Amino acid sequence: MSGPTPRPGILDIRPYVGGESKAEAERVVRLASNEGALGPSPKAMAAYRSLAAELHRYPDGGATELRAALGKHYGLDADRIVCGAGSDELIALLVKAYAGPGDEVLYSAHGFLMYALSAKGAGATPVAAPETDLKADVDALLAKVTDRTRLVFVANPNNPTGSYLTVEEVERLHAGLPEHVLLVIDAAYAEYILLNDYAAGSELVDRASNVVMTRTFSKIFGLGALRLGWAYCPAEVADVLNRVRGPFNVNAAALAAGVAALEDTGFIDAARTHNDIWRPWTTDRLTGLGLKVYPSVGNFVLADFAGLAGKEAEEARLFLKDRGVLVRQMGAYGLPTCLRITIGTEAEMRALVDALSAYLG
Ligand code: PMP
Repeated sequence: MSGPTPRPGILDIRPYVGGESKAEAERVVRLASNEGALGPSPKAMAAYRSLAAELHRYPDGGATELRAALGKHYGLDADRIVCGAGSDELIALLVKAYAGPGDEVLYSAHGFLMYALSAKGAGATPVAAPETDLKADVDALLAKVTDRTRLVFVANPNNPTGSYLTVEEVERLHAGLPEHVLLVIDAAYAEYILLNDYAAGSELVDRASNVVMTRTFSKIFGLGALRLGWAYCPAEVADVLNRVRGPFNVNAAALAAGVAALEDTGFIDAARTHNDIWRPWTTDRLTGLGLKVYPSVGNFVLADFAGLAGKEAEEARLFLKDRGVLVRQMGAYGLPTCLRITIGTEAEMRALVDALSAYLG
Protein backbone atom coordinates (compact mmCIF):
# COMPACT_ATOMS: atom_id res chain seq x y z
CA MET A 1 0.00 0.00 0.00
CA SER A 2 1.42 3.33 -0.89
CA GLY A 3 -0.46 6.53 -0.32
CA PRO A 4 0.20 10.01 -1.64
CA THR A 5 3.90 10.87 -1.38
CA PRO A 6 5.20 14.38 -0.72
CA ARG A 7 8.03 15.84 -2.80
CA PRO A 8 11.61 14.88 -1.80
CA GLY A 9 12.84 16.97 1.11
CA ILE A 10 9.47 17.45 2.82
CA LEU A 11 9.83 14.46 5.14
CA ASP A 12 13.35 15.62 6.10
CA ILE A 13 11.80 18.68 7.74
CA ARG A 14 11.79 18.63 11.50
CA PRO A 15 8.94 21.05 12.21
CA TYR A 16 9.97 24.29 13.90
CA VAL A 17 9.27 24.14 17.61
CA GLY A 18 8.46 27.54 19.06
CA GLY A 19 9.46 28.70 22.52
CA GLU A 20 7.48 27.17 25.37
CA SER A 21 4.67 29.32 26.74
CA LYS A 22 3.18 27.15 29.50
CA ALA A 23 4.46 25.93 32.87
CA GLU A 24 2.93 24.54 36.06
CA ALA A 25 3.52 27.60 38.16
CA GLU A 26 1.46 30.38 39.68
CA ARG A 27 3.25 33.02 37.66
CA VAL A 28 4.77 32.20 34.29
CA VAL A 29 7.68 34.28 33.02
CA ARG A 30 7.97 33.87 29.26
CA LEU A 31 11.50 34.46 28.05
CA ALA A 32 11.60 31.81 25.33
CA SER A 33 10.40 33.55 22.17
CA ASN A 34 12.06 36.99 21.95
CA GLU A 35 8.70 38.71 22.27
CA GLY A 36 8.69 42.43 23.04
CA ALA A 37 9.17 43.09 26.77
CA LEU A 38 6.61 45.89 26.89
CA GLY A 39 3.85 44.05 25.05
CA PRO A 40 2.00 45.76 22.20
CA SER A 41 1.62 49.54 21.97
CA PRO A 42 -1.71 50.78 23.41
CA LYS A 43 -2.38 52.41 20.04
CA ALA A 44 -1.94 49.10 18.25
CA MET A 45 -4.29 47.42 20.72
CA ALA A 46 -6.93 50.10 20.12
CA ALA A 47 -6.63 49.71 16.35
CA TYR A 48 -6.97 45.94 16.72
CA ARG A 49 -10.10 46.27 18.88
CA SER A 50 -11.68 48.79 16.55
CA LEU A 51 -11.67 46.19 13.80
CA ALA A 52 -14.03 43.76 15.53
CA ALA A 53 -17.18 44.98 13.77
CA GLU A 54 -15.51 44.64 10.36
CA LEU A 55 -14.41 41.02 10.63
CA HIS A 56 -16.70 39.99 7.78
CA ARG A 57 -14.67 42.12 5.34
CA TYR A 58 -11.71 40.80 3.42
CA PRO A 59 -8.50 42.70 4.12
CA ASP A 60 -6.84 44.99 1.59
CA GLY A 61 -4.81 42.41 -0.32
CA GLY A 62 -2.35 45.08 -1.39
CA ALA A 63 -1.69 46.27 2.20
CA THR A 64 -1.75 49.79 0.71
CA GLU A 65 -2.04 51.82 3.89
CA LEU A 66 0.52 49.80 5.81
CA ARG A 67 3.04 49.92 2.96
CA ALA A 68 2.60 53.69 2.72
CA ALA A 69 3.11 53.98 6.48
CA LEU A 70 6.24 51.79 6.32
CA GLY A 71 7.58 53.83 3.41
CA LYS A 72 7.09 57.04 5.36
CA HIS A 73 8.44 55.70 8.65
CA TYR A 74 11.60 54.16 7.21
CA GLY A 75 12.07 56.43 4.15
CA LEU A 76 11.52 53.63 1.62
CA ASP A 77 9.77 53.18 -1.72
CA ALA A 78 6.37 51.74 -0.71
CA ASP A 79 5.94 50.14 -4.14
CA ARG A 80 8.81 47.80 -3.37
CA ILE A 81 7.49 46.64 0.00
CA VAL A 82 5.66 43.32 0.22
CA CYS A 83 3.86 42.37 3.44
CA GLY A 84 3.55 38.85 4.77
CA ALA A 85 2.08 36.76 7.57
CA GLY A 86 5.22 37.20 9.64
CA SER A 87 8.64 37.43 8.06
CA ASP A 88 8.61 33.61 8.22
CA GLU A 89 6.14 33.61 5.34
CA LEU A 90 8.32 35.93 3.27
CA ILE A 91 11.42 33.82 3.92
CA ALA A 92 9.55 30.71 2.74
CA LEU A 93 8.12 32.50 -0.31
CA LEU A 94 11.53 33.81 -1.35
CA VAL A 95 12.99 30.32 -1.19
CA LYS A 96 10.06 28.80 -3.03
CA ALA A 97 10.25 31.42 -5.77
CA TYR A 98 14.01 31.28 -6.34
CA ALA A 99 15.15 27.77 -5.42
CA GLY A 100 14.09 24.21 -6.09
CA PRO A 101 15.53 20.71 -6.42
CA GLY A 102 19.23 20.82 -7.26
CA ASP A 103 19.63 24.37 -5.96
CA GLU A 104 21.44 25.43 -2.78
CA VAL A 105 20.32 27.80 -0.06
CA LEU A 106 23.21 29.13 1.99
CA TYR A 107 23.23 30.49 5.56
CA SER A 108 25.61 30.56 8.49
CA ALA A 109 25.86 27.58 10.81
CA HIS A 110 23.98 29.00 13.80
CA GLY A 111 21.63 31.11 11.70
CA PHE A 112 17.88 31.33 12.19
CA LEU A 113 16.32 27.87 11.67
CA MET A 114 13.69 28.85 9.12
CA TYR A 115 16.26 29.19 6.32
CA ALA A 116 17.10 25.48 6.33
CA LEU A 117 13.48 24.46 6.88
CA SER A 118 12.29 26.64 4.00
CA ALA A 119 15.02 25.23 1.73
CA LYS A 120 13.89 21.68 2.47
CA GLY A 121 10.28 22.70 1.93
CA ALA A 122 11.17 23.87 -1.57
CA GLY A 123 13.14 20.70 -2.32
CA ALA A 124 16.39 22.69 -2.36
CA THR A 125 19.58 21.79 -0.49
CA PRO A 126 20.40 23.72 2.69
CA VAL A 127 24.09 24.57 3.02
CA ALA A 128 25.60 25.89 6.27
CA ALA A 129 28.85 27.88 6.40
CA PRO A 130 30.93 27.72 9.59
CA GLU A 131 30.94 30.69 11.97
CA THR A 132 33.76 32.28 13.92
CA ASP A 133 33.03 32.83 17.63
CA LEU A 134 29.29 32.43 16.97
CA LYS A 135 29.32 35.17 14.37
CA ALA A 136 28.61 34.83 10.64
CA ASP A 137 31.89 34.73 8.73
CA VAL A 138 31.82 36.52 5.36
CA ASP A 139 34.75 34.58 3.91
CA ALA A 140 33.33 31.25 5.05
CA LEU A 141 29.97 32.12 3.45
CA LEU A 142 31.60 33.18 0.18
CA ALA A 143 33.69 30.00 0.17
CA LYS A 144 30.47 27.94 0.16
CA VAL A 145 28.96 29.68 -2.87
CA THR A 146 28.72 27.38 -5.89
CA ASP A 147 27.05 27.72 -9.26
CA ARG A 148 24.02 26.07 -7.67
CA THR A 149 23.62 28.68 -4.91
CA ARG A 150 20.40 30.64 -5.36
CA LEU A 151 19.91 32.44 -2.04
CA VAL A 152 22.11 33.50 0.87
CA PHE A 153 20.40 34.30 4.16
CA VAL A 154 21.99 36.42 6.84
CA ALA A 155 20.08 37.27 10.00
CA ASN A 156 21.47 40.62 11.04
CA PRO A 157 21.61 40.57 13.98
CA ASN A 158 21.35 36.83 14.24
CA ASN A 159 18.97 34.85 16.41
CA PRO A 160 20.05 33.04 18.61
CA THR A 161 23.65 34.28 18.83
CA GLY A 162 22.92 38.03 19.04
CA SER A 163 25.95 38.87 16.88
CA TYR A 164 25.81 41.20 13.88
CA LEU A 165 27.66 41.98 10.70
CA THR A 166 28.82 45.56 10.20
CA VAL A 167 27.75 47.60 7.17
CA GLU A 168 31.20 46.96 5.74
CA GLU A 169 30.96 43.20 6.23
CA VAL A 170 27.52 43.03 4.59
CA GLU A 171 28.85 45.08 1.66
CA ARG A 172 31.78 42.71 1.33
CA LEU A 173 29.48 39.69 1.37
CA HIS A 174 27.31 41.24 -1.30
CA ALA A 175 30.30 42.25 -3.43
CA GLY A 176 31.54 38.66 -3.42
CA LEU A 177 28.26 37.14 -4.61
CA PRO A 178 27.44 36.48 -8.25
CA GLU A 179 24.60 38.70 -9.47
CA HIS A 180 22.16 35.82 -9.84
CA VAL A 181 22.40 34.97 -6.13
CA LEU A 182 19.77 36.68 -3.96
CA LEU A 183 21.12 38.00 -0.66
CA VAL A 184 18.38 38.10 1.97
CA ILE A 185 19.19 40.28 4.98
CA ASP A 186 16.84 39.29 7.79
CA ALA A 187 16.75 42.33 10.07
CA ALA A 188 14.04 41.15 12.47
CA TYR A 189 15.72 42.89 15.43
CA ALA A 190 16.93 46.05 13.64
CA GLU A 191 14.80 48.49 15.66
CA TYR A 192 16.71 47.60 18.82
CA ILE A 193 20.01 48.77 17.37
CA LEU A 194 21.48 52.26 17.26
CA LEU A 195 25.11 51.63 16.33
CA ASN A 196 27.20 53.60 13.84
CA ASP A 197 28.55 50.50 12.13
CA TYR A 198 25.17 48.74 11.77
CA ALA A 199 22.52 49.15 9.10
CA ALA A 200 19.41 47.08 8.49
CA GLY A 201 20.16 46.86 4.76
CA SER A 202 17.67 49.07 2.91
CA GLU A 203 20.42 51.22 1.33
CA LEU A 204 21.93 48.11 -0.19
CA VAL A 205 18.51 47.03 -1.47
CA ASP A 206 18.19 50.42 -3.18
CA ARG A 207 21.58 50.04 -4.86
CA ALA A 208 21.57 46.40 -5.86
CA SER A 209 19.37 44.17 -7.98
CA ASN A 210 19.87 41.08 -5.81
CA VAL A 211 19.32 42.13 -2.18
CA VAL A 212 16.14 41.84 -0.09
CA MET A 213 15.67 43.02 3.50
CA THR A 214 13.02 41.32 5.66
CA ARG A 215 11.53 42.86 8.80
CA THR A 216 8.92 41.97 11.40
CA PHE A 217 6.35 43.44 13.75
CA SER A 218 6.87 40.49 16.12
CA LYS A 219 9.79 41.89 18.11
CA ILE A 220 10.04 45.54 19.21
CA PHE A 221 6.44 46.22 18.12
CA GLY A 222 5.14 43.30 20.18
CA LEU A 223 2.65 42.01 17.59
CA GLY A 224 3.81 38.39 17.24
CA ALA A 225 0.27 37.06 17.67
CA LEU A 226 -0.93 38.90 14.59
CA ARG A 227 1.77 37.53 12.25
CA LEU A 228 3.01 40.56 10.37
CA GLY A 229 6.26 41.00 8.49
CA TRP A 230 7.48 42.79 5.39
CA ALA A 231 10.17 42.68 2.77
CA TYR A 232 11.91 45.58 1.01
CA CYS A 233 12.92 44.44 -2.44
CA PRO A 234 14.15 45.37 -5.89
CA ALA A 235 11.06 45.95 -8.10
CA GLU A 236 11.53 42.59 -9.89
CA VAL A 237 11.65 40.65 -6.61
CA ALA A 238 8.62 42.50 -5.22
CA ASP A 239 6.78 41.52 -8.40
CA VAL A 240 7.75 37.87 -7.91
CA LEU A 241 6.63 37.85 -4.27
CA ASN A 242 3.33 39.43 -5.22
CA ARG A 243 2.76 36.62 -7.71
CA VAL A 244 3.46 33.78 -5.29
CA ARG A 245 1.87 35.11 -2.10
CA GLY A 246 -1.77 34.46 -1.23
CA PRO A 247 -4.07 37.29 -2.31
CA PHE A 248 -5.06 38.06 1.31
CA ASN A 249 -1.97 36.77 3.10
CA VAL A 250 -2.05 39.48 5.78
CA ASN A 251 -5.18 39.79 7.91
CA ALA A 252 -7.01 43.07 8.46
CA ALA A 253 -6.31 43.21 12.21
CA ALA A 254 -2.58 42.94 11.55
CA LEU A 255 -2.72 45.67 8.90
CA ALA A 256 -4.57 48.07 11.22
CA ALA A 257 -2.42 47.33 14.27
CA GLY A 258 0.74 47.63 12.18
CA VAL A 259 -0.13 51.14 11.00
CA ALA A 260 -0.96 52.24 14.56
CA ALA A 261 2.23 50.66 15.95
CA LEU A 262 4.37 52.60 13.49
CA GLU A 263 2.75 55.85 14.55
CA ASP A 264 3.54 55.21 18.22
CA THR A 265 7.16 56.30 18.05
CA GLY A 266 7.22 57.02 21.80
CA PHE A 267 6.47 53.35 22.45
CA ILE A 268 9.20 52.17 20.08
CA ASP A 269 11.75 54.44 21.81
CA ALA A 270 10.63 53.23 25.24
CA ALA A 271 10.99 49.61 24.17
CA ARG A 272 14.51 50.23 22.83
CA THR A 273 15.52 52.12 25.97
CA HIS A 274 14.16 49.31 28.14
CA ASN A 275 16.23 46.80 26.20
CA ASP A 276 19.34 49.01 26.43
CA ILE A 277 19.02 48.93 30.23
CA TRP A 278 17.98 45.33 30.91
CA ARG A 279 20.13 43.50 28.38
CA PRO A 280 23.41 44.74 29.92
CA TRP A 281 21.94 44.25 33.40
CA THR A 282 21.06 40.65 32.56
CA THR A 283 24.44 40.07 30.91
CA ASP A 284 26.24 41.37 34.00
CA ARG A 285 24.23 39.24 36.39
CA LEU A 286 24.61 36.06 34.35
CA THR A 287 28.32 36.66 33.91
CA GLY A 288 28.54 37.19 37.66
CA LEU A 289 26.98 33.75 38.11
CA GLY A 290 29.81 32.23 36.06
CA LEU A 291 28.01 31.86 32.73
CA LYS A 292 29.57 32.87 29.45
CA VAL A 293 27.24 35.38 27.81
CA TYR A 294 27.82 36.15 24.15
CA PRO A 295 27.68 39.83 23.16
CA SER A 296 24.18 40.53 21.82
CA VAL A 297 22.56 43.50 20.12
CA GLY A 298 19.09 41.91 20.09
CA ASN A 299 16.39 41.62 22.76
CA PHE A 300 17.88 38.39 24.03
CA VAL A 301 21.15 36.91 25.24
CA LEU A 302 22.77 33.54 24.70
CA ALA A 303 24.19 32.05 27.89
CA ASP A 304 26.70 29.19 27.75
CA PHE A 305 26.96 26.63 30.57
CA ALA A 306 29.97 24.81 29.05
CA GLY A 307 32.48 26.25 31.53
CA LEU A 308 30.48 25.32 34.63
CA ALA A 309 31.44 21.92 36.02
CA GLY A 310 28.44 19.81 37.00
CA LYS A 311 25.92 22.30 35.62
CA GLU A 312 24.08 21.78 32.38
CA ALA A 313 21.92 23.97 30.18
CA GLU A 314 19.06 21.49 29.88
CA GLU A 315 19.03 20.77 33.61
CA ALA A 316 19.00 24.52 34.26
CA ARG A 317 16.15 25.02 31.80
CA LEU A 318 14.02 22.41 33.56
CA PHE A 319 14.90 23.88 36.97
CA LEU A 320 13.78 27.31 35.73
CA LYS A 321 10.63 25.87 34.18
CA ASP A 322 9.67 24.30 37.51
CA ARG A 323 9.79 27.81 38.91
CA GLY A 324 7.69 29.19 36.06
CA VAL A 325 10.57 30.78 34.12
CA LEU A 326 10.64 29.70 30.48
CA VAL A 327 13.79 30.05 28.37
CA ARG A 328 14.78 28.48 25.06
CA GLN A 329 16.86 25.35 24.62
CA MET A 330 19.35 25.54 21.78
CA GLY A 331 19.93 21.95 20.67
CA ALA A 332 18.21 22.55 17.33
CA TYR A 333 20.73 25.33 16.67
CA GLY A 334 23.70 23.10 17.40
CA LEU A 335 24.33 24.88 20.71
CA PRO A 336 23.26 22.30 23.32
CA THR A 337 25.32 23.87 26.13
CA CYS A 338 23.50 27.21 25.73
CA LEU A 339 20.16 28.73 26.68
CA ARG A 340 18.66 31.74 24.93
CA ILE A 341 17.00 34.20 27.26
CA THR A 342 14.70 37.00 26.09
CA ILE A 343 14.89 40.40 27.75
CA GLY A 344 11.55 40.80 29.54
CA THR A 345 10.28 43.26 32.12
CA GLU A 346 12.35 44.24 35.16
CA ALA A 347 10.36 41.88 37.37
CA GLU A 348 10.83 39.06 34.87
CA MET A 349 14.58 39.57 34.63
CA ARG A 350 14.89 39.64 38.41
CA ALA A 351 12.84 36.42 38.61
CA LEU A 352 15.13 34.82 36.02
CA VAL A 353 18.31 35.81 37.85
CA ASP A 354 16.89 34.65 41.21
CA ALA A 355 15.93 31.27 39.77
CA LEU A 356 19.28 30.83 38.01
CA SER A 357 21.14 31.78 41.17
CA ALA A 358 19.18 29.11 43.02
CA TYR A 359 20.20 26.55 40.39
CA LEU A 360 23.84 27.53 40.30
CA GLY A 361 24.21 28.36 43.97
N1 PMP B 1 13.99 36.14 11.59
C1 PMP B 1 14.57 36.03 12.77
C2 PMP B 1 16.04 36.24 12.87
C3 PMP B 1 13.80 35.72 13.90
O1 PMP B 1 14.38 35.59 15.09
C4 PMP B 1 12.40 35.53 13.76
C5 PMP B 1 11.52 35.21 14.94
N2 PMP B 1 11.91 34.20 15.75
C6 PMP B 1 11.86 35.66 12.49
C7 PMP B 1 12.68 35.97 11.43
C8 PMP B 1 10.43 35.40 12.22
O2 PMP B 1 9.60 36.33 12.77
P1 PMP B 1 8.09 36.49 12.34
O3 PMP B 1 7.72 35.38 11.42
O4 PMP B 1 7.33 36.49 13.61
O5 PMP B 1 8.05 37.82 11.63
